[in-house]
Amino acid sequence: MSDNMRYPFLDLRDVTRPDRDAIVEAMTRVVDSGRYIGGEENVAFESELAAATGVNHAVGTANGLDALRLIFRAAIELGRLSVGDEVIVPANTYIASVLAVTDNALTPVFVEPDERTMNLDWSRVEEALTPRTRAVLTVHLYGRASWDDSVVGRLRQLEIMIVEDNAQAIGARLVDGRTTGSLGDAAAFSFYPTKNIGAIGDAGAVTTNDKALADAVRAIANYGSDRRYHNIYCGLNSRLDPLQAAILRIKLRGLEQECSRRRELARTYSTHINRPEVLLPDDALTAAVWHQYVIRVDRRDDFRRALAAEGVGTDIHYAVPPYRQPCYRCYSSLVLPVTDSLADTVVSLPVSPSTSVSDVEAISEIINRISY
Ligand SMILES: *Cc1c(COP(=O)(O)O)cnc(C)c1O
Repeated sequence: MSDNMRYPFLDLRDVTRPDRDAIVEAMTRVVDSGRYIGGEENVAFESELAAATGVNHAVGTANGLDALRLIFRAAIELGRLSVGDEVIVPANTYIASVLAVTDNALTPVFVEPDERTMNLDWSRVEEALTPRTRAVLTVHLYGRASWDDSVVGRLRQLEIMIVEDNAQAIGARLVDGRTTGSLGDAAAFSFYPTKNIGAIGDAGAVTTNDKALADAVRAIANYGSDRRYHNIYCGLNSRLDPLQAAILRIKLRGLEQECSRRRELARTYSTHINRPEVLLPDDALTAAVWHQYVIRVDRRDDFRRALAAEGVGTDIHYAVPPYRQPCYRCYSSLVLPVTDSLADTVVSLPVSPSTSVSDVEAISEIINRISY
């Protein structure tokens, strides 16, 4: 899709280019260190991520899905959740959020998103509660914080666990300045290469202020071992690769710059696209970090074709919601019209490192004039 486009949606070589030499140097350092599992790079990255997030603990993991799986698994091991408990999830999330729930034999309860924020509709959370609801997984989709202090306050009174899927929102804040990844009981990060802070491969992390949870996540991710050859859980192997840790330390230093770059692009789209039938994302001027800039259009295929003909690459996040995936056919009879309507109309526009403000002005102008 990005080949031959004047305005490619995303080319990962553009992501790496500014840091290439530092990345190669960091990789060489790890190669020469002889320390290929864990070690100094991991310790340093974890403390830098904890500091950037404003929490006491960060634990590197092999990827973002495992970060989520490990949070739920740790909560089960600590006796805070039990198999079969219900976990509220936004129905329009990426499938990894739901896989983390079902992989732990927990029951996902899909709640509709808010059409305006495209994030969990918090006003529907209370009607979805049952005596079996033990957790809410809030997903900061597209880089926009999804949080509601008054609903969360009531959930806390019911001792319901709040987990954040922060895969798309590193660096995002609430308007009062609190950062995503520090809001709930624990948060999962992904450093998949296309994310705002991306590794050169798979990587993830868990953040939390809860030491017991952090210790359990770390042990479960390392064969369930709390010290050498002593296994307190039937664990798995999902450790952060020190090569990725070394690379992520470099990327993390550029976090604020990357957030402001994306904000500027988003602001430019929001002020330049002026076609009534194109719905713009809400919140263009707040503290979102714009992992995706998502507009909504009818006749989406025609719209994308017309843009592609003008050299503009686009993508869809996501065309098929989890409850309509073949693996979740047990949920296919649910009625989720807002989720379906978003899935049918969303289009992501380029906000890649090679996308300049003048590119965004040109793309906006193309959107304003094309017929489709
Ligand atoms: C990318 C992503 C994940 C999974 O992260 P991986 O590192 O690819 O395993 C989970 N949730 C959301 C919302 C994501 O975008």
